[in-house]
Amino acid sequence: MYQLMYLAVSSSIISTLEKLVILPVMKIIVETASFDIQKIKNPDISGEEYQQGEQLDSWNVREYVLFRDNHTCQCCKGKSKDKILNVHHIKSRKTGGNSPDNLTTLCETCHTKYHKGLIELPESIKRGQAFNDAAFMGIMR
Ligand SMILES: [Zn+2]
Ligand SMILES: [Zn+2]
Repeated sequence: MYQLMYLAVSSSIISTLEKLVILPVMKIIVETASFDIQKIKNPDISGEEYQQGEQLDSWNVREYVLFRDNHTCQCCKGKSKDKILNVHHIKSRKTGGNSPDNLTTLCETCHTKYHKGLIELPESIKRGQAFNDAAFMGIMR
């Protein structure tokens, strides 16, 4: 188990800080979370062990994806105000598998609309999340 640190300083927080000219104490939020990197890189999706390991591994990957996406819907970026978040397979689970670069965070509103064929996912999602993962891992190092 690796202990990972992530500096959660979003651009919106920074621009808010810029507006506050006098700021006696600058508070930086540091979130800590632990992920089993081996399981994220090699989610066990084959053989009989899959059945047993699926729940634990998919929970682990799910937590990672939500954390990476800042618990924000990657389609509407939170505009729907829907607090229920789903982890959506960009390509089907069969073709794309269960790795984080095939997963994205969608709120229930967008997720339902997408599966009903009412909306398209943004290009950034369709291109996949591989870049985000690389950037994310870069922060950790
Ligand atoms: Zn949404
Ligand atoms: Zn889905």
